[in-house]
Amino acid sequence: MTTIPTQCSQKVSETGRWGAFHPHPCKHKATVTRGGKAYCGTHDPERRAARAAAKCFYLGDDGRQCGRPAVALKYGSGRCALHTQEALDAAKRLQRAAPALLEKLQHLVRLLEPLEQAGGMDVPGLATLNGARAAIAQAKGKE
Ligand SMILES: [Zn+2]
Ligand SMILES: [Zn+2]
Repeated sequence: MTTIPTQCSQKVSETGRWGAFHPHPCKHKATVTRGGKAYCGTHDPERRAARAAAKCFYLGDDGRQCGRPAVALKYGSGRCALHTQEALDAAKRLQRAAPALLEKLQHLVRLLEPLEQAGGMDVPGLATLNGARAAIAQAKGKE
């Protein structure tokens, strides 16, 4: 195994990531070596190339992939600006619905608990309510 030098060798500028004025070495710790040079996760040339080549994976109603250049690698894969916004909107909707979802889940657990404790729960694929309880605990920050 080769040892990786501790500091990223990428030159960066104070005024912006892509600016070329007064460059100084990146202060981040190196995590990889490429072609004998050390880079942090942000400046890893392979990751940067992958980011640049990433296409929006969003599938339209016709089943075709969007394919616009991706701007973010959130939510598991690349998304273009439009579909990043869509994902953020979906996350906001989920956040708004969370109190209602939590209440309904707690209600279901309360209703099914007597069955579970009597060993009489014969719902296929549902032996206990532990998964639902764990989700409730997580939502309440008690996990
Ligand atoms: Zn770096
Ligand atoms: Zn898209």
